[in-house]
Amino acid sequence: MRVFPKFIYKVITKEKLVALTFDDGPHPEFTVYLLDLFKKKGIRATFFVTGKNIEKHKDIIIRMIKDGHELGNHSYSHKNLIFKKKNKIKEEIEKTDMLLRELGVKGKILFRPPFGRILFAASHVLVALNKKVIMWNVPTKDYKLNDPKVILKRIYKRIKPGSIIVLHDSGIDRVGNKINRQATIIAVKALLDELPKRGYKFMTVSELINN
Ligand SMILES: [Zn+2]
Repeated sequence: MRVFPKFIYKVITKEKLVALTFDDGPHPEFTVYLLDLFKKKGIRATFFVTGKNIEKHKDIIIRMIKDGHELGNHSYSHKNLIFKKKNKIKEEIEKTDMLLRELGVKGKILFRPPFGRILFAASHVLVALNKKVIMWNVPTKDYKLNDPKVILKRIYKRIKPGSIIVLHDSGIDRVGNKINRQATIIAVKALLDELPKRGYKFMTVSELINN
C-alpha cells in the first residue's frame, strides 16, 4: 500500500496544454463573471471548491457542471489540515465529495489541500480514499497581489507545456478579510487572449492528466 498519495504539480507533455485552476470558491460575483467569460470563449477550467461554499451556492456548482468545468474538493471548511486528526480530515474530504456528488459530479474527484499543505495524518487518509492531490507549478500569488500585470508576469515566466496554474475566486483572502478579485479577473481575461496566441490550449486538470 502507498504511504503517500500521488501529488501532481504538472503533467509531462510536449504539447502546449495548460490547466487553469481556481481555489476557494464559488463566489456569486467573481465566479459567475469567470463562468460567463469562459462560456464566451469556449474554455473549461477546474474549480477546487470548499464544502461550505458549495452549500451556499449550489446553483453555481450546477452551472459549472453544465458548462463542462471540473469540480475538485478543497476540503469542507478550509482549515489548515496540518493540525487536524485523521478522522477530522476524513470528514472534511468525504463531506465535500458527498455535496459534489449530490449536485451531480461524476467520476473521480480530485483533491487540493487548503493552503497547499498536508502532513502524515492527511497522507494516510488520502491514500485510503484513493485521492490524487493536485498542486500546481505556476503559483500566481493572486491571493495577495492586486496588480494584474504582476500576476501575469509571474505566469508568463513559469508557464510551460503541461502546467497547472493556481488562481483564486473567493471573496476573502487567506486571513478572512474581504477581497476584491479585480486583479485576478483582469489577469484571466488577458490570459484567455494571450495564451492561445502562444499556442496554448486550455483544459481541465483531469483532461490534462489523461491526455
Ligand atoms: Zn484555498
